[in-house]
Amino acid sequence: MNLVGDENLLELQGVDKTYGSDGRTFLAVKNVSLRIRPGEFVGLLGPSGCGKSTLLRIITGLSPASSGGVLYRGRPLVGINPHATIVFQTFALYPWLTVEENVEIALKARGLPPSERRARALRLIDLVGLDGFESAYPRELSGGMRQKVGFARAMAVEPELLCLDEPFSALDLLSADALRGELLELWLGKSIPTQAILLVTHNIEEALLLADRLIIMDKDPGRVVAEMAVGLRYPRHRKDTAFLATLDKVYAIVAGRTERETAPAGTASGQPGRKTRLPVARINALAGLMEKVREEGGRVDLHRLAGELHLELDDLLPVVEGAELLGFAQVDAGDIVLTALGQAFADASITARKEIIAGRILRHPTIRWIYETLQQDDDRHVAASFFLERLQAEFGDDAPQQLENAISWGRYAELFTFDDDTDELFMEA
Ligand code: ADP
Ligand code: MG
Repeated sequence: MNLVGDENLLELQGVDKTYGSDGRTFLAVKNVSLRIRPGEFVGLLGPSGCGKSTLLRIITGLSPASSGGVLYRGRPLVGINPHATIVFQTFALYPWLTVEENVEIALKARGLPPSERRARALRLIDLVGLDGFESAYPRELSGGMRQKVGFARAMAVEPELLCLDEPFSALDLLSADALRGELLELWLGKSIPTQAILLVTHNIEEALLLADRLIIMDKDPGRVVAEMAVGLRYPRHRKDTAFLATLDKVYAIVAGRTERETAPAGTASGQPGRKTRLPVARINALAGLMEKVREEGGRVDLHRLAGELHLELDDLLPVVEGAELLGFAQVDAGDIVLTALGQAFADASITARKEIIAGRILRHPTIRWIYETLQQDDDRHVAASFFLERLQAEFGDDAPQQLENAISWGRYAELFTFDDDTDELFMEA
């Protein structure tokens, strides 16, 4: 492990980032404070849209913070950060340049003499395992190899802080694993002068395989919800007991929070209300999850479940959240545990399931409000735009998705549905 110093390489102090201007602004990240010290490999973990890329742009100076402090080695960052580089999910290589030229081009911009550029590029190409491909063109390489060129190019400028924005997520599983291993080898073997790595990911396992410390974010608004030291030795193996125990801890933090943040069922006021965002969970996925957990005796490790169902965090969490909101399950210490109602649901026929869901979702403010509005209407038909406008006040740009989601729940439960021809929501008399 690299030695961690006391001094901060990078520090964010209460950073906010707002996009847009005038009336249409969007708070992408709120009050984010974090520190990265030399010697650290930090994982920044959170669902899509929580502001991870936004933070990387702020840290590298590509985009300014709207408020708060951005310090690099204790000094306020002004303009582009010359000490930090980003590797993106898919690296834009120049198709007309060879591997070597693609790496060298980063050095050309820094004014290095040709012989030194070449030497440095060749060494890095070798380091990332592309020896022999110096004069190949990007089209001749696999996705994994192209991403290695991206890494070599980012490392060519010898950044003190290497920022990685989901760099493995576009690769197939094997290539991603291989490239993770190579990155770790470069880092632990100190064959690159990089002082710290900040890895952005929405993959919990990946974060745990690589990072010394995790910073966990959530969205709406994007913010840091927890930090955690990893404390696992390298090399790390997915099946090690200590690894699995730590994975549980992270799942408990990530999934456990959903329960606290959703309004308790039964507080429906007949109005759309704050923090009552409907989880965007497909009902089939929810039913599948309930059946799976039932099959396993009513309690399952979330990370094992994610692996077996081939679900990433982004896909699993809304379903788990949906299950919690409906009172079908609870998250406990990284496990999902069925409630009696959840068990009943898993065992029920389709008709009975619809009834159970109807009873539950009518407690949800948005659903109840739509239901009551339709009930009070003379012919039980109300324009979708009526609902949309009111949801917009609450959910902004998310309103169409919220409405669509409410309709799909309502339709499943046979409470109300949508008429494509008239753009109206309606219920049977
Ligand atoms: P992540 O990388 O965690 O997926 P991002 O930082 O890309 O999240 O985005 C955070 C939020 O900010 C998202 O809701 C996204 O739609 C919004 N956002 C990102 N960039 C812009 C932009 N240039 N203009 C407006 N909204 C943006
Ligand atoms: Mg991103």
